[in-house]
Amino acid sequence: MMQTIRGFRDILPKHISLWQRVEKEAIRLFEAFGFKEIRIPILEKTQLFARSIGEVTDIVEKEMYTFADRKGDKLTLRPEATASIVRSYIQHKMYATDPIRKFYMIGPMFRRERPQKGRYRQFYQIDAEILGVESAYVDSQLIFLLNELFKRLGLTGLSAHINSLGCPECRPSFQEALLGFIESKKDKLCKNCIRRMDKNPLRILDCKVTDCKDALADAPATLDHLCPACEDHFNTVKKTLEKQKVDFIVDKSLVRGLDYYTRTAWEIQTTTLGAQSAVAGGGRYDGLVKELGGPQTPAIGFAIGFDRLVEVMEQLNEIPVEKSLDLFIVSLGDAAMEKGYHWSCELNQLGIRTEMDFRGKSMKALMKRANKLSAQYVLIAGENELMENTIILRDMNTKEQVSLALETLVPELIKIFKK
Ligand code: ATP
Ligand code: MG
Repeated sequence: MMQTIRGFRDILPKHISLWQRVEKEAIRLFEAFGFKEIRIPILEKTQLFARSIGEVTDIVEKEMYTFADRKGDKLTLRPEATASIVRSYIQHKMYATDPIRKFYMIGPMFRRERPQKGRYRQFYQIDAEILGVESAYVDSQLIFLLNELFKRLGLTGLSAHINSLGCPECRPSFQEALLGFIESKKDKLCKNCIRRMDKNPLRILDCKVTDCKDALADAPATLDHLCPACEDHFNTVKKTLEKQKVDFIVDKSLVRGLDYYTRTAWEIQTTTLGAQSAVAGGGRYDGLVKELGGPQTPAIGFAIGFDRLVEVMEQLNEIPVEKSLDLFIVSLGDAAMEKGYHWSCELNQLGIRTEMDFRGKSMKALMKRANKLSAQYVLIAGENELMENTIILRDMNTKEQVSLALETLVPELIKIFKK
């Protein structure tokens, strides 16, 4: 039997209604906040991700699906959206006509991690980015937007952890303090962390190994080394969120797994998914557009883990509802089959959920099928009825039946279903 690849999965129709509900709510909110949809390729040059996410990060070192195409070019299935969106902003010189852009995108991402609940190799993200605005108000605005979306989806038990990672101005003093501290804990750290000491010490703070975590519990925090401008920025974010009554926790240890972050970084965490606690993550990346070859442009964005979000909603007993059918047409005999076919298409065109069965089954079998599809109404068209130019409409809930004239059938049905 053919099966999906490990870590890849089908999202079956019986689960789709929650996905659609989230998508609808997210799009409605994004549009209200002035975001425009952007669709980016699933495949990009490997270099794009290596340069933006950072060579010495989990994603680039071990999680990317990278392969050579037939000409030998190195390509990667996108592990996240920010890099591609920034590439697109630069490639199309969007900064020249209007440097301020707000984008959203929804789609699959690929990371080769160990699959488990809430962690897949193909997963989906809902992503939003604001380019061209340095003000701390947009940091608050994105966190406010996320909070509002989760509220509308009825989610409880989520907390926003926020931190500031500083800027190139504050980095040197922080790195010095961090390296000094790490040196003193060297014998307690894993091989990976030791290796990262020279290359990218900040990444050590993101190590998931328990011994490392313990050893680093009192490590210096970026928050204690902010320059006055970063301090001001972070204070405005906090003050604004307080005024907007968005709950948050300042979490000095939050560093996020990508290199490009500066200043505000945050994660929305849940207690309902065990180890996979982050349902969304975001941060400012004021240096990335320039790093990838564009003009200096401040920017900020977030990504929601769509799969995890749906899992949290399912835990909160959000039972996906399957839409029932409006009408099932029971056609008995060839003439009725032909008529039924045309009615069903006409009703489908009008947005009325109508089905019929073309296998030429008996009345009993067709009524059984109507029940299986949870049809609200059944239209019964037999040879006799057609000869008398009438047709029977049966309400499956009340079991009441009425006889309708053929000429006025469709308008009559519209009256029933479009009220
Ligand atoms: P984690 O610490 O859980 O690995 P991350 O920091 O790697 O998360 P981000 O790159 O910030 O994740 O991506 C944003 C969101 O995408 C995460 O908060 C999470 O909800 C979701 N996500 C990340 N990786 C996966 C995955 N492999 N499967 C499902 N969802 C994922
Ligand atoms: Mg990860």
